[in-house]
Amino acid sequence: MPPKQVRVRFAPSPTGFFHVGSARSTLFNWLYAKKEGGVFVLRIEDTDKERSNPEFERIIFESLEWIGLTWDEGPGFTRADGSEVREKGSFGPYRQSERKAIYKKYLEKLLYDNHAYWCFCTPEELEAERQSLLASGSPPKYSGTCRSLPKETVSERQERGESAVIRFKMPEEKISFSDIIRGTVEFDMSLGGDVVIAKGLDQPLFDFANMIDDEMMEITHVIRGEDHIPNTPKQIAVARVLGFRKLYYAHLPLILNSDRSKMSKRFQAASLVEYQKMGYVPEALVNFLVLLGWHPEPIVDTKTGKAHEREIFSLEELSKLFDFKRVQKGGAIFNIEKLNWINNRYLRVLENKEIARRLREGGFVKEGIEESMLLKTIELIKPRMRTLKEFEELAGCIFSVPEYDGTLLVWKKSTKDESKKNLIDVNAVLQATGENTFTPGELKNALSPLTTERGNGDVLWPLRVALSGKEFSPGPFEIMSVLGKNESMRRITEATAKL
Ligand code: GLU
Repeated sequence: MPPKQVRVRFAPSPTGFFHVGSARSTLFNWLYAKKEGGVFVLRIEDTDKERSNPEFERIIFESLEWIGLTWDEGPGFTRADGSEVREKGSFGPYRQSERKAIYKKYLEKLLYDNHAYWCFCTPEELEAERQSLLASGSPPKYSGTCRSLPKETVSERQERGESAVIRFKMPEEKISFSDIIRGTVEFDMSLGGDVVIAKGLDQPLFDFANMIDDEMMEITHVIRGEDHIPNTPKQIAVARVLGFRKLYYAHLPLILNSDRSKMSKRFQAASLVEYQKMGYVPEALVNFLVLLGWHPEPIVDTKTGKAHEREIFSLEELSKLFDFKRVQKGGAIFNIEKLNWINNRYLRVLENKEIARRLREGGFVKEGIEESMLLKTIELIKPRMRTLKEFEELAGCIFSVPEYDGTLLVWKKSTKDESKKNLIDVNAVLQATGENTFTPGELKNALSPLTTERGNGDVLWPLRVALSGKEFSPGPFEIMSVLGKNESMRRITEATAKL
Protein backbone atom coordinates (compact mmCIF):
# COMPACT_ATOMS: atom_id res chain seq x y z
CA MET A 1 0.00 0.00 0.00
CA PRO A 2 1.49 3.39 -0.91
CA PRO A 3 2.45 5.49 2.13
CA LYS A 4 0.14 8.21 3.42
CA GLN A 5 2.71 10.87 2.95
CA VAL A 6 5.96 10.72 1.03
CA ARG A 7 8.96 11.53 3.20
CA VAL A 8 12.37 11.58 1.56
CA ARG A 9 15.74 12.56 2.85
CA PHE A 10 19.09 13.74 1.69
CA ALA A 11 21.67 12.40 4.12
CA PRO A 12 25.14 13.76 3.39
CA SER A 13 28.23 12.94 5.39
CA PRO A 14 30.18 16.17 5.92
CA THR A 15 33.47 14.50 5.06
CA GLY A 16 34.26 16.21 1.77
CA PHE A 17 33.10 18.88 -0.64
CA PHE A 18 29.52 19.10 -1.77
CA HIS A 19 29.82 18.18 -5.42
CA VAL A 20 27.65 17.51 -8.45
CA GLY A 21 26.63 13.98 -7.44
CA SER A 22 25.40 15.17 -4.04
CA ALA A 23 23.56 18.07 -5.62
CA ARG A 24 21.86 15.76 -8.13
CA SER A 25 20.75 13.38 -5.32
CA THR A 26 19.37 16.32 -3.38
CA LEU A 27 17.52 17.57 -6.42
CA PHE A 28 15.85 14.24 -7.21
CA ASN A 29 14.76 13.88 -3.58
CA TRP A 30 13.52 17.44 -3.47
CA LEU A 31 11.60 17.16 -6.75
CA TYR A 32 9.98 13.91 -5.74
CA ALA A 33 8.88 15.42 -2.44
CA LYS A 34 7.40 18.45 -4.19
CA LYS A 35 5.69 16.35 -6.83
CA GLU A 36 4.06 14.11 -4.24
CA GLY A 37 3.24 16.88 -1.77
CA GLY A 38 5.72 15.21 0.56
CA VAL A 39 8.41 16.28 2.97
CA PHE A 40 12.10 16.73 2.20
CA VAL A 41 14.33 16.01 5.18
CA LEU A 42 17.98 16.96 5.49
CA ARG A 43 19.99 14.79 7.85
CA ILE A 44 23.66 15.28 8.56
CA GLU A 45 25.41 11.92 8.88
CA ASP A 46 28.40 12.87 10.98
CA THR A 47 28.96 9.71 13.00
CA ASP A 48 32.50 9.42 11.68
CA LYS A 49 34.12 11.89 14.02
CA GLU A 50 37.57 11.86 12.46
CA ARG A 51 36.39 12.53 8.94
CA SER A 52 33.46 14.87 9.63
CA ASN A 53 34.21 18.54 9.57
CA PRO A 54 32.00 21.54 10.45
CA GLU A 55 33.42 23.42 7.48
CA PHE A 56 32.10 20.75 5.08
CA GLU A 57 28.77 20.90 6.90
CA ARG A 58 28.58 24.66 6.37
CA ILE A 59 29.35 24.14 2.66
CA ILE A 60 26.40 21.72 2.41
CA PHE A 61 24.01 24.29 3.87
CA GLU A 62 25.32 27.13 1.73
CA SER A 63 25.29 25.04 -1.44
CA LEU A 64 21.70 23.93 -0.87
CA GLU A 65 20.61 27.49 -0.21
CA TRP A 66 22.45 28.68 -3.31
CA ILE A 67 20.69 26.24 -5.63
CA GLY A 68 17.37 26.90 -3.92
CA LEU A 69 16.82 23.39 -2.53
CA THR A 70 15.90 24.15 1.03
CA TRP A 71 14.68 21.52 3.42
CA ASP A 72 11.29 21.10 5.08
CA GLU A 73 12.86 19.41 8.09
CA GLY A 74 16.44 19.42 9.19
CA PRO A 75 19.23 20.99 11.19
CA GLY A 76 19.65 24.67 11.87
CA PHE A 77 22.84 26.59 11.18
CA THR A 78 24.40 30.03 11.22
CA ARG A 79 24.92 31.63 7.83
CA ALA A 80 28.17 33.36 6.89
CA ASP A 81 26.46 36.72 7.45
CA GLY A 82 25.60 35.70 11.03
CA SER A 83 21.87 35.11 10.45
CA GLU A 84 20.42 32.01 12.04
CA VAL A 85 18.40 29.21 10.48
CA ARG A 86 16.53 27.22 13.09
CA GLU A 87 16.18 23.45 13.18
CA LYS A 88 12.77 22.46 11.77
CA GLY A 89 10.76 19.27 12.24
CA SER A 90 9.69 17.05 15.09
CA PHE A 91 11.89 14.01 14.37
CA GLY A 92 15.14 15.79 15.22
CA PRO A 93 17.83 16.35 16.18
CA TYR A 94 18.89 15.93 12.57
CA ARG A 95 22.61 15.53 13.14
CA GLN A 96 23.60 11.95 13.86
CA SER A 97 26.27 13.06 16.32
CA GLU A 98 23.36 14.25 18.49
CA ARG A 99 21.42 10.99 18.19
CA LYS A 100 23.92 8.50 19.55
CA ALA A 101 21.70 7.39 22.43
CA ILE A 102 19.12 6.14 19.91
CA TYR A 103 21.63 4.00 18.01
CA LYS A 104 23.02 2.68 21.29
CA LYS A 105 19.58 1.53 22.36
CA TYR A 106 19.16 -0.47 19.14
CA LEU A 107 22.66 -1.93 19.31
CA GLU A 108 21.92 -3.11 22.86
CA LYS A 109 18.65 -4.62 21.72
CA LEU A 110 20.32 -6.52 18.86
CA LEU A 111 22.99 -7.84 21.25
CA TYR A 112 20.40 -8.78 23.84
CA ASP A 113 18.22 -10.58 21.28
CA ASN A 114 21.27 -12.43 20.00
CA HIS A 115 21.02 -10.92 16.52
CA ALA A 116 24.41 -9.33 17.01
CA TYR A 117 27.58 -10.14 18.94
CA TRP A 118 30.89 -8.69 20.05
CA CYS A 119 33.75 -9.68 17.78
CA PHE A 120 37.31 -9.54 19.13
CA CYS A 121 39.11 -10.62 15.98
CA THR A 122 42.00 -8.27 15.29
CA PRO A 123 42.53 -6.66 11.87
CA GLU A 124 45.62 -8.87 11.45
CA GLU A 125 43.64 -12.03 12.15
CA LEU A 126 40.90 -10.97 9.77
CA GLU A 127 43.41 -10.17 7.04
CA ALA A 128 45.13 -13.56 7.44
CA GLU A 129 41.75 -15.27 7.21
CA ARG A 130 40.90 -13.31 4.09
CA GLN A 131 44.18 -14.11 2.40
CA SER A 132 43.89 -17.83 3.09
CA LEU A 133 40.35 -17.90 1.70
CA LEU A 134 41.43 -16.04 -1.42
CA ALA A 135 44.40 -18.40 -1.84
CA SER A 136 42.06 -21.39 -1.76
CA GLY A 137 39.84 -19.73 -4.36
CA SER A 138 36.94 -18.99 -1.99
CA PRO A 139 35.26 -15.61 -1.63
CA PRO A 140 36.48 -13.72 1.44
CA LYS A 141 33.95 -14.08 4.22
CA TYR A 142 34.17 -13.70 7.99
CA SER A 143 34.29 -17.23 9.40
CA GLY A 144 32.25 -16.40 12.49
CA THR A 145 35.00 -17.03 15.07
CA CYS A 146 33.28 -14.87 17.71
CA ARG A 147 29.68 -15.73 16.74
CA SER A 148 29.06 -18.07 19.65
CA LEU A 149 31.41 -16.88 22.36
CA PRO A 150 29.93 -17.55 25.81
CA LYS A 151 28.67 -14.46 27.63
CA GLU A 152 31.30 -14.88 30.34
CA THR A 153 34.13 -14.96 27.83
CA VAL A 154 32.84 -11.77 26.26
CA SER A 155 32.66 -10.01 29.65
CA GLU A 156 36.12 -11.23 30.63
CA ARG A 157 37.72 -10.10 27.40
CA GLN A 158 35.97 -6.75 27.64
CA GLU A 159 37.14 -6.31 31.22
CA ARG A 160 40.65 -7.04 30.07
CA GLY A 161 40.24 -4.10 27.75
CA GLU A 162 40.35 -6.05 24.49
CA SER A 163 38.89 -3.99 21.72
CA ALA A 164 35.84 -5.35 19.93
CA VAL A 165 33.33 -4.43 17.25
CA ILE A 166 29.66 -5.38 16.97
CA ARG A 167 28.72 -7.77 14.21
CA PHE A 168 25.27 -8.52 12.90
CA LYS A 169 24.37 -12.19 12.36
CA MET A 170 23.61 -12.11 8.70
CA PRO A 171 21.03 -14.70 7.65
CA GLU A 172 22.41 -17.16 5.08
CA GLU A 173 19.80 -16.37 2.50
CA LYS A 174 19.01 -14.26 -0.52
CA ILE A 175 17.68 -10.78 0.11
CA SER A 176 15.98 -8.89 -2.65
CA PHE A 177 14.43 -5.49 -2.86
CA SER A 178 12.53 -3.68 -5.49
CA ASP A 179 14.24 -0.62 -6.85
CA ILE A 180 12.01 1.93 -8.57
CA ILE A 181 14.64 2.55 -11.24
CA ARG A 182 16.23 -0.88 -11.55
CA GLY A 183 13.48 -3.36 -10.73
CA THR A 184 14.26 -6.33 -8.49
CA VAL A 185 17.79 -6.44 -7.10
CA GLU A 186 18.91 -9.59 -5.32
CA PHE A 187 21.95 -10.40 -3.18
CA ASP A 188 23.05 -13.73 -1.78
CA MET A 189 23.89 -12.84 1.81
CA SER A 190 25.48 -16.20 2.52
CA LEU A 191 28.49 -15.01 0.49
CA GLY A 192 29.52 -12.12 2.73
CA GLY A 193 29.06 -13.42 6.26
CA ASP A 194 28.34 -11.37 9.38
CA VAL A 195 28.84 -7.65 8.95
CA VAL A 196 30.19 -5.06 11.36
CA ILE A 197 27.50 -2.57 12.31
CA ALA A 198 29.34 -0.64 15.03
CA LYS A 199 32.81 -0.13 16.41
CA GLY A 200 31.30 0.12 19.87
CA LEU A 201 28.00 1.03 21.50
CA ASP A 202 28.72 4.71 20.90
CA GLN A 203 30.23 4.24 17.48
CA PRO A 204 27.61 2.97 15.03
CA LEU A 205 28.77 2.65 11.43
CA PHE A 206 27.13 4.88 8.88
CA ASP A 207 24.78 2.36 7.26
CA PHE A 208 23.45 1.23 10.63
CA ALA A 209 22.69 4.73 11.89
CA ASN A 210 21.33 5.61 8.46
CA MET A 211 18.83 2.73 8.55
CA ILE A 212 17.73 3.45 12.13
CA ASP A 213 17.11 7.09 11.24
CA ASP A 214 15.14 6.23 8.13
CA GLU A 215 12.77 4.31 10.40
CA MET A 216 12.66 6.93 13.17
CA MET A 217 12.15 9.80 10.77
CA GLU A 218 9.36 7.93 8.97
CA ILE A 219 11.20 8.07 5.66
CA THR A 220 9.26 6.34 2.89
CA HIS A 221 11.63 6.55 -0.10
CA VAL A 222 15.40 6.20 -0.11
CA ILE A 223 16.75 8.05 -3.16
CA ARG A 224 20.52 7.91 -3.38
CA GLY A 225 23.51 7.11 -5.61
CA GLU A 226 23.94 3.63 -7.02
CA ASP A 227 27.16 3.22 -5.03
CA HIS A 228 24.85 2.47 -2.08
CA ILE A 229 23.20 -0.54 -3.70
CA PRO A 230 25.45 -3.07 -1.89
CA ASN A 231 24.59 -1.48 1.48
CA THR A 232 20.89 -1.90 0.91
CA PRO A 233 20.44 -5.67 1.56
CA LYS A 234 22.54 -5.37 4.74
CA GLN A 235 20.36 -2.54 5.95
CA ILE A 236 17.25 -4.48 5.04
CA ALA A 237 18.46 -7.54 6.97
CA VAL A 238 18.99 -5.52 10.16
CA ALA A 239 15.80 -3.54 9.72
CA ARG A 240 13.82 -6.79 9.38
CA VAL A 241 14.89 -8.24 12.71
CA LEU A 242 14.08 -4.90 14.33
CA GLY A 243 10.59 -5.07 12.84
CA PHE A 244 10.99 -1.86 10.86
CA ARG A 245 8.81 -0.81 7.95
CA LYS A 246 9.75 -1.61 4.35
CA LEU A 247 11.11 1.26 2.31
CA TYR A 248 10.99 2.15 -1.38
CA TYR A 249 14.38 2.51 -3.03
CA ALA A 250 15.57 4.48 -6.05
CA HIS A 251 19.30 4.22 -6.77
CA LEU A 252 20.43 6.92 -9.16
CA PRO A 253 22.84 6.30 -12.06
CA LEU A 254 26.52 7.18 -11.86
CA ILE A 255 27.73 10.41 -13.38
CA LEU A 256 30.36 9.91 -16.11
CA ASN A 257 32.64 12.00 -18.31
CA SER A 258 31.75 12.49 -21.97
CA ASP A 259 34.03 9.56 -22.88
CA ARG A 260 32.26 7.44 -20.23
CA SER A 261 35.37 7.41 -18.06
CA LYS A 262 35.37 8.16 -14.35
CA MET A 263 34.56 11.64 -13.09
CA SER A 264 36.90 14.39 -14.12
CA LYS A 265 38.30 16.24 -11.15
CA ARG A 266 37.89 19.62 -12.70
CA PHE A 267 34.14 19.65 -13.21
CA GLN A 268 32.23 16.75 -11.77
CA ALA A 269 34.10 16.49 -8.54
CA ALA A 270 34.29 20.24 -8.19
CA SER A 271 32.47 21.59 -5.22
CA LEU A 272 29.24 23.38 -6.04
CA VAL A 273 30.75 26.59 -4.71
CA GLU A 274 33.28 26.34 -7.55
CA TYR A 275 30.46 26.52 -10.08
CA GLN A 276 29.40 29.77 -8.48
CA LYS A 277 32.97 31.04 -8.92
CA MET A 278 33.01 29.81 -12.52
CA GLY A 279 30.01 32.07 -13.15
CA TYR A 280 27.15 29.59 -13.47
CA VAL A 281 23.76 30.72 -12.25
CA PRO A 282 21.96 28.36 -9.88
CA GLU A 283 18.80 28.12 -12.04
CA ALA A 284 20.91 26.82 -14.93
CA LEU A 285 22.89 24.47 -12.76
CA VAL A 286 19.73 22.89 -11.36
CA ASN A 287 18.36 22.53 -14.88
CA PHE A 288 21.60 20.86 -15.93
CA LEU A 289 21.60 18.56 -12.90
CA VAL A 290 18.14 17.21 -13.54
CA LEU A 291 19.18 16.09 -17.00
CA LEU A 292 21.95 13.98 -15.47
CA GLY A 293 19.88 10.84 -15.53
CA TRP A 294 16.37 12.11 -16.17
CA HIS A 295 14.68 13.09 -19.42
CA PRO A 296 11.15 14.32 -19.91
CA GLU A 297 8.70 12.85 -22.34
CA PRO A 298 9.69 14.20 -25.80
CA ILE A 299 7.35 16.79 -27.25
CA VAL A 300 5.77 15.78 -30.53
CA ASP A 301 5.11 18.53 -33.02
CA THR A 302 1.52 17.93 -34.13
CA LYS A 303 2.18 19.39 -37.59
CA THR A 304 5.41 17.63 -38.51
CA GLY A 305 5.05 14.59 -36.25
CA LYS A 306 8.65 15.11 -35.20
CA ALA A 307 9.61 14.56 -31.60
CA HIS A 308 12.08 16.82 -29.86
CA GLU A 309 13.39 16.99 -26.34
CA ARG A 310 12.71 19.95 -24.21
CA GLU A 311 15.69 20.88 -22.10
CA ILE A 312 14.96 24.13 -20.31
CA PHE A 313 12.77 23.92 -17.20
CA SER A 314 12.23 25.96 -14.07
CA LEU A 315 12.26 24.23 -10.69
CA GLU A 316 8.55 24.89 -10.50
CA GLU A 317 7.91 23.05 -13.79
CA LEU A 318 10.26 20.25 -12.87
CA SER A 319 8.46 19.59 -9.64
CA LYS A 320 5.37 18.78 -11.70
CA LEU A 321 7.11 16.86 -14.49
CA PHE A 322 9.64 14.81 -12.56
CA ASP A 323 9.01 11.10 -12.61
CA PHE A 324 11.19 8.08 -11.74
CA LYS A 325 9.87 6.27 -14.79
CA ARG A 326 12.08 8.48 -16.88
CA VAL A 327 15.23 8.08 -14.83
CA GLN A 328 17.79 5.96 -16.67
CA LYS A 329 19.72 3.01 -15.26
CA GLY A 330 22.93 3.57 -17.19
CA GLY A 331 25.54 6.19 -16.33
CA ALA A 332 24.64 9.83 -16.95
CA ILE A 333 27.11 11.74 -19.08
CA PHE A 334 28.39 15.01 -17.71
CA ASN A 335 28.92 17.43 -20.56
CA ILE A 336 30.30 20.83 -19.65
CA GLU A 337 29.39 22.24 -23.09
CA LYS A 338 25.79 21.47 -22.29
CA LEU A 339 26.06 23.29 -18.98
CA ASN A 340 27.53 26.29 -20.83
CA TRP A 341 24.69 26.19 -23.32
CA ILE A 342 22.04 25.99 -20.59
CA ASN A 343 23.71 28.77 -18.61
CA ASN A 344 23.66 30.97 -21.70
CA ARG A 345 19.94 30.28 -22.20
CA TYR A 346 19.29 31.47 -18.65
CA LEU A 347 21.51 34.53 -18.95
CA ARG A 348 19.74 35.54 -22.15
CA VAL A 349 16.41 35.81 -20.42
CA LEU A 350 17.52 37.21 -17.09
CA GLU A 351 16.79 40.92 -16.64
CA ASN A 352 19.84 43.09 -17.24
CA LYS A 353 19.46 44.56 -13.78
CA GLU A 354 19.53 41.13 -12.23
CA ILE A 355 22.61 40.16 -14.21
CA ALA A 356 24.27 43.39 -13.09
CA ARG A 357 23.48 42.53 -9.49
CA ARG A 358 24.93 39.05 -9.83
CA LEU A 359 28.01 40.29 -11.66
CA ARG A 360 28.72 42.76 -8.89
CA GLU A 361 27.91 40.36 -6.10
CA GLY A 362 30.16 37.64 -7.54
CA GLY A 363 33.01 40.10 -8.17
CA PHE A 364 32.82 39.43 -11.92
CA VAL A 365 33.13 43.15 -12.81
CA LYS A 366 35.61 45.74 -11.63
CA GLU A 367 34.35 48.08 -8.96
CA GLY A 368 33.27 51.59 -9.85
CA ILE A 369 31.58 50.86 -13.19
CA GLU A 370 28.61 53.09 -13.62
CA GLU A 371 25.25 51.22 -13.53
CA SER A 372 23.74 52.56 -16.76
CA MET A 373 26.89 51.72 -18.68
CA LEU A 374 26.95 48.27 -17.14
CA LEU A 375 23.33 47.67 -18.12
CA LYS A 376 23.90 48.72 -21.72
CA THR A 377 26.95 46.48 -21.92
CA ILE A 378 25.03 43.52 -20.52
CA GLU A 379 22.36 43.99 -23.15
CA LEU A 380 25.07 43.88 -25.77
CA ILE A 381 27.00 40.94 -24.39
CA LYS A 382 24.42 38.59 -22.96
CA PRO A 383 23.50 36.70 -26.14
CA ARG A 384 27.07 35.45 -26.27
CA MET A 385 27.93 35.19 -22.61
CA ARG A 386 28.07 31.58 -21.41
CA THR A 387 29.07 32.35 -17.86
CA LEU A 388 29.12 35.44 -15.68
CA LYS A 389 32.86 35.03 -15.54
CA GLU A 390 33.11 35.45 -19.30
CA PHE A 391 31.64 38.92 -19.02
CA GLU A 392 35.00 40.48 -18.23
CA GLU A 393 36.66 38.77 -21.15
CA LEU A 394 33.91 39.76 -23.57
CA ALA A 395 33.15 43.23 -22.25
CA GLY A 396 36.15 44.38 -20.25
CA CYS A 397 37.38 46.36 -23.28
CA ILE A 398 34.27 48.51 -23.12
CA PHE A 399 35.13 49.81 -19.67
CA SER A 400 38.80 50.38 -20.41
CA VAL A 401 40.91 49.81 -23.49
CA PRO A 402 43.70 47.35 -22.86
CA GLU A 403 47.26 48.17 -23.94
CA TYR A 404 47.60 47.25 -27.61
CA ASP A 405 50.06 47.63 -30.41
CA GLY A 406 49.32 50.08 -33.25
CA THR A 407 49.91 47.36 -35.85
CA LEU A 408 46.72 45.66 -34.68
CA LEU A 409 44.79 48.61 -36.11
CA VAL A 410 45.79 47.74 -39.68
CA TRP A 411 43.47 45.35 -41.44
CA LYS A 412 45.20 42.56 -43.34
CA LYS A 413 44.30 43.94 -46.77
CA SER A 414 44.96 47.56 -45.84
CA THR A 415 47.89 49.83 -45.06
CA LYS A 416 48.94 51.92 -42.08
CA ASP A 417 48.25 55.19 -43.89
CA GLU A 418 44.85 54.07 -45.13
CA SER A 419 43.90 52.96 -41.65
CA LYS A 420 44.91 56.28 -40.18
CA LYS A 421 43.01 58.24 -42.83
CA ASN A 422 39.93 56.07 -42.35
CA LEU A 423 39.95 56.59 -38.60
CA ILE A 424 40.29 60.35 -38.99
CA ASP A 425 37.40 60.39 -41.43
CA VAL A 426 35.26 58.22 -39.15
CA ASN A 427 35.82 60.73 -36.39
CA ALA A 428 34.70 63.52 -38.66
CA VAL A 429 31.45 61.68 -39.35
CA LEU A 430 30.94 61.03 -35.64
CA GLN A 431 31.59 64.68 -34.88
CA ALA A 432 28.66 65.53 -37.12
CA THR A 433 26.41 62.89 -35.54
CA GLY A 434 24.14 63.93 -32.71
CA GLU A 435 24.76 62.34 -29.29
CA ASN A 436 21.15 61.16 -29.18
CA THR A 437 21.51 59.22 -32.43
CA PHE A 438 24.30 57.07 -31.05
CA THR A 439 22.49 53.82 -31.64
CA PRO A 440 23.93 50.87 -33.60
CA GLY A 441 21.48 51.37 -36.47
CA GLU A 442 21.99 55.13 -36.82
CA LEU A 443 25.74 54.80 -36.57
CA LYS A 444 25.79 52.18 -39.25
CA ASN A 445 23.78 54.47 -41.53
CA ALA A 446 25.97 57.43 -40.78
CA LEU A 447 29.12 55.52 -41.68
CA SER A 448 27.71 53.68 -44.67
CA PRO A 449 28.95 56.16 -47.34
CA LEU A 450 32.46 55.65 -45.98
CA THR A 451 32.26 51.87 -45.76
CA THR A 452 30.71 51.64 -49.21
CA GLU A 453 33.42 53.77 -50.72
CA ARG A 454 36.42 52.20 -48.96
CA GLY A 455 35.27 48.74 -47.94
CA ASN A 456 33.99 47.32 -44.70
CA GLY A 457 37.25 45.76 -43.58
CA ASP A 458 39.28 48.88 -44.28
CA VAL A 459 37.02 51.09 -42.19
CA LEU A 460 35.45 48.87 -39.58
CA TRP A 461 38.47 46.80 -38.59
CA PRO A 462 40.60 49.78 -37.43
CA LEU A 463 37.52 51.35 -35.90
CA ARG A 464 36.67 48.27 -33.87
CA VAL A 465 40.26 47.84 -32.69
CA ALA A 466 40.46 51.55 -31.82
CA LEU A 467 37.36 51.18 -29.68
CA SER A 468 38.24 47.88 -28.01
CA GLY A 469 42.00 47.45 -28.24
CA LYS A 470 41.30 43.82 -29.09
CA GLU A 471 41.48 41.48 -32.03
CA PHE A 472 38.07 40.04 -31.15
CA SER A 473 35.34 42.11 -29.56
CA PRO A 474 31.71 43.13 -30.03
CA GLY A 475 31.02 45.11 -33.20
CA PRO A 476 32.04 48.78 -33.48
CA PHE A 477 28.48 50.18 -33.73
CA GLU A 478 27.44 48.32 -30.59
CA ILE A 479 30.51 49.44 -28.66
CA MET A 480 29.99 53.06 -29.70
CA SER A 481 26.36 52.96 -28.68
CA VAL A 482 27.48 51.99 -25.17
CA LEU A 483 30.44 54.36 -24.97
CA GLY A 484 28.66 57.46 -26.33
CA LYS A 485 30.07 60.11 -28.58
CA ASN A 486 32.85 61.63 -26.48
CA GLU A 487 34.48 58.43 -25.33
CA SER A 488 34.22 56.85 -28.80
CA MET A 489 35.89 59.83 -30.40
CA ARG A 490 38.55 59.98 -27.72
CA ARG A 491 39.50 56.33 -28.30
CA ILE A 492 39.65 56.87 -32.05
CA THR A 493 41.89 59.93 -31.66
CA GLU A 494 44.16 57.95 -29.36
CA ALA A 495 44.36 55.17 -31.94
CA THR A 496 45.30 57.50 -34.79
CA ALA A 497 48.23 58.65 -32.70
CA LYS A 498 49.51 55.07 -32.73
CA LEU A 499 49.67 54.99 -36.51
N1 GLU B 1 25.69 9.45 4.40
C1 GLU B 1 25.59 8.72 3.18
C2 GLU B 1 26.44 9.36 2.13
O1 GLU B 1 26.79 10.51 2.23
C3 GLU B 1 24.13 8.71 2.76
C4 GLU B 1 23.67 7.49 2.12
C5 GLU B 1 22.17 7.49 1.90
O2 GLU B 1 21.66 8.44 1.29
O3 GLU B 1 21.54 6.58 2.37
O4 GLU B 1 26.80 8.72 1.18
